Amino acid sequence: MRVGLLGLQGAFLDHIPHLKRCGVEPVIVRDAQALSTIDRLIIPGGESTVMSKFLQEFGMLRPLGDRVSAGLPVWGVCAGAILLSQQVNGSPGVLAALPISLTRNAYGRQIASDTRPIDIALLDLVAYPAVFIRAPRIDRVGEGVVVHAVRDRDPVFIQKDHIMASTFHPELNPDDAFHRYFISL
Ligand code: GLN
Repeated sequence: MRVGLLGLQGAFLDHIPHLKRCGVEPVIVRDAQALSTIDRLIIPGGESTVMSKFLQEFGMLRPLGDRVSAGLPVWGVCAGAILLSQQVNGSPGVLAALPISLTRNAYGRQIASDTRPIDIALLDLVAYPAVFIRAPRIDRVGEGVVVHAVRDRDPVFIQKDHIMASTFHPELNPDDAFHRYFISL
């Protein structure tokens, strides 16, 4: 299995040990050619504006959009979730692959980065210490979107068919459950 890690910007390296423990040697994706060789993709956390600019500059935006529409399993983490979202702060999103609306940096300055215990029945995780770093808030989920976990009432881990998104950073915890699940999609 060829699991791609979008390596244009952000926290992609932290995913590598997880994938290796799952028996997968990841492919760092930095151009459209590499994109065409993978059979799933993690879009990491980072800065969504910078990542979208690089996607455009490196001619990857269109090919990535096409592959996602054609069924490529994708996991967006934080900034990655922002790129996948249909609506971002009231404007159309970059890939617009997930029927959700979100607000960037919505948890405010003081609590911009924190760890919250959340339960994720899907992965058999109780009080999992989810790390939120300048996270977006998902304000609306559309039809067909399954909410796997919430923070208070806000969805923080969601999935629609082959696309999943988390507004926190599972790559920063030792647990491999998220990566194992993504590989199973
Ligand atoms: N605040 C970042 C953005 O708007 C996301 C932060 C993250 O990925 N941890 O893109």
